[in-house]
Amino acid sequence: MAFEGLTTRLQNVFGKLRGKGKLSEDDVNEAMREVRLALLEADVNFKVVKDFIAKVKEKAVGAEVQKSFTPGMVVVDIVHKELIELMGGTQAKLAKSNKPPTVILMAGLQGAGKTTLTGKLAKLLQSQGHKPLLIAGDIYRPAAIKQLEVLGGQIDVPVFSLGDKVSPVDIAGQGVQLAKEQGHDYVLIDTAGRLQIDEALMEEIKQIHAAVKPDEVLLVVDAMTGQEAVNVAKSFHEQLELTGVVLTKLDGDTRGGAALSVKAVTGCPIKFASTGEKIDQLEAFHPDRMASRILG
Ligand code: GDP
Repeated sequence: MAFEGLTTRLQNVFGKLRGKGKLSEDDVNEAMREVRLALLEADVNFKVVKDFIAKVKEKAVGAEVQKSFTPGMVVVDIVHKELIELMGGTQAKLAKSNKPPTVILMAGLQGAGKTTLTGKLAKLLQSQGHKPLLIAGDIYRPAAIKQLEVLGGQIDVPVFSLGDKVSPVDIAGQGVQLAKEQGHDYVLIDTAGRLQIDEALMEEIKQIHAAVKPDEVLLVVDAMTGQEAVNVAKSFHEQLELTGVVLTKLDGDTRGGAALSVKAVTGCPIKFASTGEKIDQLEAFHPDRMASRILG
């Protein structure tokens, strides 16, 4: 995950600022104009950019910057802090139910990486000493059940499936019941993807939601699709109360627009970042680390 373009451009802007002993308002304005362009080029949502620049400007023309012997560095620090805020501030943790199992429902478009993520998250939870159960609720994509079973087999996590003739609502309900009986503390429900937001499938996931009352609803979005990922998140969130977003394919995303916009647009925190096809390529999303990476 390397937002090369954005990092290079920001480094140029800040390089110029750092060299100055004193910063005039014009210097700050010029720098902010360049930061604004850099963010827009990185495919960050237009309104998000506008608000971000306004916040940074407000702080950067303040007394502290003027008093400092190294005003450029103070501005960089302000941008750094605002980037962290933009991505949610602190790290958003996965829900944990007081009454196990913690039920996690996966949502997202087809191909976003939902099934892969289900396996990855199970492995992560397992490595933390948990006992997850996977539920194969995507009965429409022909290979989805098998794919989940193979993933489960690789990491030695059981997969509950009732084939593709039973309704996903029943599959999910029965799976959660079984998890309770067998003492699993996490249940991860894979659901059918959509090519685009599709009413029938959306209705189905709402029914699954009502049946199992998940503690966590994770929307899986492909970071490489930039603003499209943000729009998808917004639409899903309007229909299904999401508790978190997972960005996938961050390894192939060179711009960073989704990572920088999705929290601000939806209010929903990014909880994980997936950075490759391998089962262990999943990390908790840390806004501070991401901001540092962006600044280079
Ligand atoms: P689903 O339809 O949402 O269940 O999507 P899948 O889990 O089947 O993933 C679709 C494709 O994306 C597969 O080829 C995955 O290997 C790939 N994929 C998933 N996550 C990542 C990721 O973080 N990075 C990369 N490069 N590929 C990924």
